[in-house]
Parts: sequence; structure tokens; C-alpha cells
Amino acid sequence: MTDAVRVRGLWKRFGQQVAVGGIDLSLPAGKFVGLVGPNGAGKTTTLSMVTGLLRPDQGSVEVVGHDVWRDPVAVKARIGVLPEGLRLFERLSGRELLGYSGRLRGLPGAEVDKRATQLLDVLDLAGAQHKLVVDYSTGMRKKIGLAAALLHNPEVLFLDEPFEGVDPVSAQTIRGVLERYTASGATVVFSSHVMELVESLCDWVAVLAAGRIRATGTLAEVRGDHPTLQAAFLELVGASGRDAASDLDWLGGGAR
Ligand code: ATP
Repeated sequence: MTDAVRVRGLWKRFGQQVAVGGIDLSLPAGKFVGLVGPNGAGKTTTLSMVTGLLRPDQGSVEVVGHDVWRDPVAVKARIGVLPEGLRLFERLSGRELLGYSGRLRGLPGAEVDKRATQLLDVLDLAGAQHKLVVDYSTGMRKKIGLAAALLHNPEVLFLDEPFEGVDPVSAQTIRGVLERYTASGATVVFSSHVMELVESLCDWVAVLAAGRIRATGTLAEVRGDHPTLQAAFLELVGASGRDAASDLDWLGGGAR
């Protein structure tokens, strides 16, 4: 099995805060990979370093056999990225944004137009293609960002929380596109803290907590004897069984 992503000894500190504390990770090609962890676990920081957006303090990252920091052009030609808090060119329409992204990737104009039309159609954005991106809703922004990330048919697609703020119908559409994409042999790596979603989509999972990998493997391996991934996750990240909310004894009951 070849690896789409190989990470060795990856570290990132922000002042005193260790965001990523020495990660080793191999993610197999052709899989739907979920990078899961609680808030602040280091998912975004890891994905940013893996995709060449943030320079690590230490460690190496290879994507489809190319070193991200020594050979960034080769890597960036082969990946698509939907980052967290995606910044888009707000004064372009959705179609113009795709036209721009495709040409930036060096695709011929006619091919960009063809692929853009298909992606806008499949992602249910055809009706809004001439609307400015600034007027798009959260879910529409995710979808146009996904279309831009897929336009050049990358080998590996990285998505940071792709389903956040997306309604169930759009989520189903995005799922369909991603499933088709991985079925053709491509790799999707996405971060999430929604375990049900990861369990239903992913065949490979890496659990991250406090900047370290707690478990990695197939969904069945990570789930182990637990009935659900959620149960395995809670144990792996060390969530106590204590009902912390019970401390809020003043909340509710009508007393002021
Ligand atoms: P979430 O699920 O809440 O998005 P995450 O797993 O993506 O969380 P990160 O955003 O990678 O977590 O953050 C990991 C840690 O690093 C957190 O403690 C965060 O406060 C810290 N951190 C991240 N980026 C910075 C930054 N630019 N400056 C300072 N601290 C940062």
C-alpha cells in the first residue's frame, strides 16, 4: 500500500503553546481519511503544515512522494485544499472564481469552462454562478471552495471541516462528489470532530489530541471493541465520565 501522506517528527509551537508535538503519520493512498480530535487538538495546524501553508518548527512531510517544503511546486500541483476560514475573492462571481482558479493551475480555458460548468451543476450552484461570492451563504462558500479545490483533479484533497455550516442536502451532495472522487483512486483527508460523519464516510482514521496522535488505522482498528467511534474517541482523548455540567447548579430552575 503506498502512502499519500507521510509525516515524520512534526512539531509546531506558538510561543509556549505546543500545537503539534512530534507527529508521525502515514496515510494510505486511495482512502477516505478522517483526522479527528477535540477543539484545539492541532488538526488545523497539522493540515496547514501538511499542505505547505505553515512552516513546521521541525519534521518532514511528504505528499505523494514529494517533500512539501523542499519541492512545494510539485506538491501543490498534485493537491487540492479547502482550508478552514477559506478566503475567497469576494468580488468575483462563483463562475469567475473557478475560471481564475483553473487558469492559475495552467488548464486550457475551454477545459476550465467545461469542468466549471459540470462542478457548478453537480454542486447545485448553477443558479448562483453569476452571483458575487461575497453574497454566498456559508454552505455555498464551502461548495465553491470545494469546486475550486477539485478543478485540476488533484491526487490528494485536504479539507478542513468541510461540512461545518453545511445543510443536510448540501452535505449529501458534497459526500456524493467526494465518494466518486475516492472511488477513482484519489485520496481525501478531512478534519472533523463529528464522529458519526467520520464513521459513515471514512475507511481510515487518525485521532489527534493535545498535539499528538492517539490512534491511527482502519476505522475498525481504531474503533476496537467499542460500539461506536464516538465511544472509542472519548476513551482515547481521555474524556472523564464525570458530568461536568452538574457543577452549573444555578442554571435553570427559574431561580435568579
Ligand atoms: P478546532 O477543532 O477547534 O478547530 P484544531 O484541532 O484545529 O481545533 P488548532 O487550530 O490546530 O486546533 O490549534 C491547536 C492549538 O494551537 C490550540 O491550542 C490553539 O490555540 C493553538 N494555535 C493555533 N494557531 C495558533 C496561532 N496562530 N497562534 C497561537 N496559537 C495558535
